[in-house]
Amino acid sequence: MSKHAFKLARGLAEVLIGVQSVGICGSDLHFWTDGQIGDFIISSPMVLGHEASGVVIAIGEGVTDLQPGDRVAMEPGVPCHHCQYCKSGRYNHCPDVKFASAPPYNGYLTNYVTHPATFCFKLPDHVSFDEGALLEPVSVAVHACRRVSVGLGSKVLITGAGPIGLVCLMVAKACGASVLIATDLESTRLEAAKSCGATHTCLIDKTSTSRQVAEDVKRKIGASPDITIECSGAASAISAGIYATKSGGSVLMVGLGAPLATLPIVDASVREVDLIGVFRYVNCFPAALDLIASGKINTKALLSHKYALGEVLSAFEMAKSGKAVKVIVDCSSKE
Ligand code: NAD
Ligand code: ZN
Repeated sequence: MSKHAFKLARGLAEVLIGVQSVGICGSDLHFWTDGQIGDFIISSPMVLGHEASGVVIAIGEGVTDLQPGDRVAMEPGVPCHHCQYCKSGRYNHCPDVKFASAPPYNGYLTNYVTHPATFCFKLPDHVSFDEGALLEPVSVAVHACRRVSVGLGSKVLITGAGPIGLVCLMVAKACGASVLIATDLESTRLEAAKSCGATHTCLIDKTSTSRQVAEDVKRKIGASPDITIECSGAASAISAGIYATKSGGSVLMVGLGAPLATLPIVDASVREVDLIGVFRYVNCFPAALDLIASGKINTKALLSHKYALGEVLSAFEMAKSGKAVKVIVDCSSKE
């Protein structure tokens, strides 16, 4: 059993979980290749993986709403519950959050973990473990769409059609967005965007300027997007988003790229285009689960590759290759 859970516990009643499906995310790849992301530095061996689902094996004292055999998805960040952010309901900013797979806390790429029951979400029978693992990235998209109230008739530009861009696209569509245009440098990613509901796509030529990309987007949809959801982390994409977005609109910065970027800040100011940060999620797992369980979004379209835990190296290599959309590791296998 992973030891991390005892550090994560925070006095909350816990359950023992047999891990089933774990998705590999870009941050797992960064930790694998670089050993760090910004100030998060891995200094001793650590288990990766934070997009996870499993089966409750045993319940600890005080657990009332879960039973052995329940199928659950785990929310990986357990905040302190005491600071001003936790008390005001913005626990994603808790300075003392213990987040599985962010050092020093172990993640879920293992056979068994313990986890606070209140951060486990029971999956209905028809939601697979693989879909359960995707509650985590879908929650990022739910939080992003809530930050600017994507709604009926919204025209939305999504820059970067990787897994995060694709879930943002699906959730924005479920919110009622009527125009969804996705940009990417790779045509395969744009094909995926079309199958996830994009009404338009825009293949970016690396030699194009951000202004040219913005003009192309506006020409294709015949209007300026109300909202840009930036999901690549590329400074040029944030710039294109600013130039494209209508005056008074918003650019959501989901993508996390270089710590410093040169952006057309005067254009954003004089046209009152709001630049909005997005970090993880707050109380979004229930909505993410409802979206999947009700069929409002079809995350099955994202599940491209699956490996046993013993083949985890191949799983990481496939995820790194860029040929996959979402790679899942089956942690129920014991070899
Ligand atoms: P990914 O690398 O799989 O996808 C990024 C996509 O952007 C790729 O398809 C790439 O071809 C495309 N791209 C690169 N430059 C571009 C440009 N100039 N214009 C348009 N597209 C471009 O990554 P992902 O897993 O989908 O994650 C996307 C981003 O979201 C990452 O930066 C990740 O760190 C970030 N993220 C943020 C949060 C958060 O809480 N804010 C949570 C999860 C992930
Ligand atoms: Zn806190």
